[in-house]
Amino acid sequence: MKQLYLVANWKSNKTIEESITWIQSTSWRTNLKLKEGIIFILCPPFIALATLKDEIQKANLPILLGVQNISQFGNGAYTGEVSAGMLKGLVEYVIIGHSERRKYFSETDEMLFKKVEQAKLAGLKVIYCVESSTVSVPLQVDLIAYEPIAAIGSGKPENPEDAERVCKQIKEKHTNIPILYGGSVTPDNIAMYLKQPSIDGALVGGSSLDPERFFHLIEASFV
Ligand code: PEP
Repeated sequence: MKQLYLVANWKSNKTIEESITWIQSTSWRTNLKLKEGIIFILCPPFIALATLKDEIQKANLPILLGVQNISQFGNGAYTGEVSAGMLKGLVEYVIIGHSERRKYFSETDEMLFKKVEQAKLAGLKVIYCVESSTVSVPLQVDLIAYEPIAAIGSGKPENPEDAERVCKQIKEKHTNIPILYGGSVTPDNIAMYLKQPSIDGALVGGSSLDPERFFHLIEASFV
């Protein structure tokens, strides 16, 4: 059986209190432990990381933490930035190259490659997002997420066969790197993606915000 990955990207949502409510919901505590076949990586906003780490440790939940972005620079005089080094011991993963960062924050390939370098220096694993099979991907990344732009947050997911075709092309170029699909994944459609031979998991935005909905998505992932 292939190793599956689920990455939840909360984007700019939730207060610290709302994050605690999410993680303390009954289904997480009682059921998620049974589902250890999936590597689950939760990427909340920076403000919630320390609190969520405590909750995960207290309840011994099988959840790994990631961030949605890091600075392209190391520690130092970069006001407002969070460097990869500052996250050591707090998270294991970082999402780099999300299309929203490329679009709204003008992140270029050059900046993204620097971010990957910083992540690796700090020992973080990288989930690198691409919109097609032709986007450059740094060699050191750990997971690649194929996210067709039109499918992100639109409620219009790419057809699973088309997603498989692109993920296969990416896999041929980057052998041994798991490939995730992202773009309007829901509890109703996730199984169709995970069944595809070249898709090893999903990056989920909107459907990860409500804990019950996300729990249904986890259940539906056992294909
Ligand atoms: C995402 O955040 O990368 C994403 C795919 O969002 P959504 O699931 O809402 O389309």
